[in-house]
Amino acid sequence: MGLAIVYSRAQVEIDAPEVRVEVHLSGGLPRIFIVGLPEAAVKESRDRVRSALINSGFSFPASRITISLAPADLPKDGSRFDLAIALGILAASAQIPKQALDGYEFIGELSLAGELRPVSGILPTALAATRKGRKLIIPEANQDEAGLLNSDDVFCAASLLNVVAGLLGRETLSVAQLTTTISATRNLPDLKNVCGQQHAIRALTVAASGAHNLLFIGPPGSGKTLLASCMPGILPGLTKAEALEVMAIRSVAGKPFDASSFKQPPFQNPHHTASAVAMVGGGSKPRPGEISLAHCGALFLDELPEFPRQVLEVLREPLESGQIVISRAARQSTYPAQFQLLAAMNPCPCGFSGDRDNNCRCSREQIVRYRQRISGPLLDRIDMQVEVPRLALGKLKNPEEYSANSTASRKQVSAARVIQIQRQGCVNAQLCNEQLQDVCQLQPSDQDFLIQTCEQLHLSARAYTRILRLARSIADMATEADIQTQHLAEAIAYRRVFNTHA
Ligand SMILES: [Zn+2]
Repeated sequence: MGLAIVYSRAQVEIDAPEVRVEVHLSGGLPRIFIVGLPEAAVKESRDRVRSALINSGFSFPASRITISLAPADLPKDGSRFDLAIALGILAASAQIPKQALDGYEFIGELSLAGELRPVSGILPTALAATRKGRKLIIPEANQDEAGLLNSDDVFCAASLLNVVAGLLGRETLSVAQLTTTISATRNLPDLKNVCGQQHAIRALTVAASGAHNLLFIGPPGSGKTLLASCMPGILPGLTKAEALEVMAIRSVAGKPFDASSFKQPPFQNPHHTASAVAMVGGGSKPRPGEISLAHCGALFLDELPEFPRQVLEVLREPLESGQIVISRAARQSTYPAQFQLLAAMNPCPCGFSGDRDNNCRCSREQIVRYRQRISGPLLDRIDMQVEVPRLALGKLKNPEEYSANSTASRKQVSAARVIQIQRQGCVNAQLCNEQLQDVCQLQPSDQDFLIQTCEQLHLSARAYTRILRLARSIADMATEADIQTQHLAEAIAYRRVFNTHA
């Protein structure tokens, strides 16, 4: 009786560790035992594989079949191993030669008729398999995602029969490639549609330059949401490594594959009714949430005070560490979450506090309570707080009010980021404390000024270092080697709104 070994890959966070599928046929009553999979998945996989083999014209061995998926302690979702299990049974029962499987890995779910169905997390699987120097066969429906790699070693097939014919050299399997084109033009909201708001546009550009967190405060209709949605259009494109990581996160999150956005920085704007799990990730098989989908890009929270407090509080850790740890029963999953936080809010519950033409109906107490929905520690991590006043209607028609555009801002942002990457290998928002001492030196009088301001505004040591990083970005935009007084003053001004009004 026979033994066959087939290689496949599990999905753990955004990695794809190797799984050895061992199939052993022995005498005894015909039965299948699968070890190394959770009970429910075992039953489903067993039934699918049996039907797929029979419906593809193969015989199902009338012997005792033991299948082991090793390592046993790896969490496994059943369906992705169907193809490997089916091929293992074929090789162990000598319906195909064992050598035909050498140097290959397989991934895919089987339908009862033997067709190959797509699975999630193909990109990490393809990366890991090709790094290992093996060829990989995937479902045809997944080929776009794997096609991003441009590898000659990833092949796709439509059915189990296709795969077998390919392995035996009777058919040539096609190499996985992109069937959609990556769009070169970006159809994104543009700053040229923003009327006036020079101060807010400047703030948005500064925030983009160093990936700083930004909160817009203004009455309804002032254009806060439009301004924030212009962020992806002024950010430079992602590097290939970043783009693949972003796609891998989308893939394991089960999001539909969309090549047209490849290399574009993500922009996620969850509604305030989104659950904590949707925001940070989780579930029985922990999946990444909005904050991980925003990795290498921006997370925009409109109507910030409307988000439940406990949802906002979980943002604190990833805002510092750039990752999120999700604890689930005995397991912990870690997903990347290096995002820039953008947020918008009204100045008060009715929206018109400080507005020229409308009277605010809120009591001082109501306003204080409203603002207190944003906790001090979260506010501490928001580098820039910017007021966006409502414009007089007359200005909307004046062409001079539309003087900005995203192309110009993106040039400024890209130039500033080049300086940062060359100097320290990361954007300014990610500068660690040791780096700060090297690259954010202040003149003694400026240092005193900053300390005094922090005391006056009751700012924490964390806010102090965040102001330094922000001042560094402002100096970089001016291509100045040293932070000067006016750069520091601008950075401090972005901290004053919340701390002096409330
Ligand atoms: Zn009000």
